[in-house]
Amino acid sequence: MRLSILSKALRSQDRKKLSPPVLLFSAASRSFSQLSSQYQRSSPSFGIAFDIDGVILLGNSPIGGSDKAIKRLYQDSGNLRIPYIFLTNGGGFPESKRASELSKLLGVNILPSQVVQGHSPFKQLVNRFENEFIVAVGKGEPAAVMSAYGFKNVLSMDEYTSYFDNIDPLAQYKKWTITPATNENSTFKEMAPTICSQRVQAAFIVSDPVDWSRDIQVLCDILRTGGLPGREIGHQPHLYFANDDLEYQATFPSERLGMGAFRIALESIFNRIHPNPLAYTSFGKPSPLVFQNAELVLKKLLSSVYSNSHLINHATPGSHNFKTLYMVGDNPSVDIKGARQAGQPWFSILTRTGVFKGKENHAKYPADLVVDTVEEAIDYILRKESI
Ligand SMILES: [Mg+2]
Repeated sequence: MRLSILSKALRSQDRKKLSPPVLLFSAASRSFSQLSSQYQRSSPSFGIAFDIDGVILLGNSPIGGSDKAIKRLYQDSGNLRIPYIFLTNGGGFPESKRASELSKLLGVNILPSQVVQGHSPFKQLVNRFENEFIVAVGKGEPAAVMSAYGFKNVLSMDEYTSYFDNIDPLAQYKKWTITPATNENSTFKEMAPTICSQRVQAAFIVSDPVDWSRDIQVLCDILRTGGLPGREIGHQPHLYFANDDLEYQATFPSERLGMGAFRIALESIFNRIHPNPLAYTSFGKPSPLVFQNAELVLKKLLSSVYSNSHLINHATPGSHNFKTLYMVGDNPSVDIKGARQAGQPWFSILTRTGVFKGKENHAKYPADLVVDTVEEAIDYILRKESI
């Protein structure tokens, strides 16, 4: 702990010697070819992890000059120049689909391996639940996410609930439509008894739940009956959350309730109707494991992208040690707290384009650097790394 505090203090001193970010824009005038050739003389000693919501995008719109700034991390040829990833607590779609969407929005070629989402660590649970019956909850394509990870027996909550008559007493008042198997075809009729009598072994909250009332109701059913809604009380199946964000910044001016808020609601209700408290595991930032995994992903990215290049003179995956890893985020209690807890080599940069809007640094979780936008953050990083 003392070493960690000392290193922060040393980095703080080092930072004071540098010009404030607002004075760094002249560095951007150097040409890409100059920058590229200068960079190629040495191995990359740093990497960057960007949060997405409130840093790169608001809704589906680039913010803070992100589309222009991200292009500076590529060579003129379009090849990756600086190892970077997106490290988001968000999700709902497979990494390949998210990478493709981000590529279109930002105008660069983003690899699926550059996208680490809140639910990405669920991959590590495939060995445990590969053939078990599981339910995936949340917006987007939660079941497709889990199938892409290798889970073979998964239904989305929309699909699962459609096999049960009257499981949601409020369904008749809901005006939206869902597209699960709720129809009269023969497969649905044949499958219904099987699904309803198959024990759910685990529930995964992949992304923000859409229909809180139904999802809380049916999750309580699953969790207190040992995975068989409508039956007797049984041992609680496993429950995993992709993140525990209380709030996040979307397009609306003030923050929106996130998966952490849903967890609190579910937990409060479950604990009132069940003798044993809810047992669960949450992933996502600020867990130090997420930052350790991000470092590993950046090392692998470096090895795979640069292994045939003279940019790096060794190609053993994971053998490279970064001197600095930058975390650029907008949420002090998630992005900055996480980077601070992870310690060396992480250096935290807080933007003012999302959850945080303060003039000075955040009081409880101060970042190593505060800037207005991600563009300023990239200016600072490239200047500091003499790129
Ligand atoms: Mg954010």
